[in-house]
Amino acid sequence: MSIRGSCHCGKIAYSLNAESPTEAIECNCSICRRKGSLLAFFTPDKVHLEMSRDDIAVYTFNQHVIRHQFCKTCGCAPFAEGVGPDGRPMVAINLRCAEGIDISKLRITPFDGASL
Ligand SMILES: [Zn+2]
Repeated sequence: MSIRGSCHCGKIAYSLNAESPTEAIECNCSICRRKGSLLAFFTPDKVHLEMSRDDIAVYTFNQHVIRHQFCKTCGCAPFAEGVGPDGRPMVAINLRCAEGIDISKLRITPFDGASL
């Protein structure tokens, strides 16, 4: 099935070729706790951007391994890109920006990113 997600103004939009997630990671690192992201991880082939990357701003910090993407207009951060534990590229989808997902029904797993 296909899940759609976007920033608030709609300039960032994507479709995700995956079953609707039932769980999410809530990370306590310095950026996730500020953004309140609820994350689910997918390989890049599952994620199709429906816009130009010109509308995306990118923020990196620390070891600069994760590219935190956000909308230049509305500031929402629908996803980030980086490398998974196995060294392969991965996309972290912020489920708060995905459509049709009942956030209150997700099984939330805390992740201690602050200690990495
Ligand atoms: Zn936007």
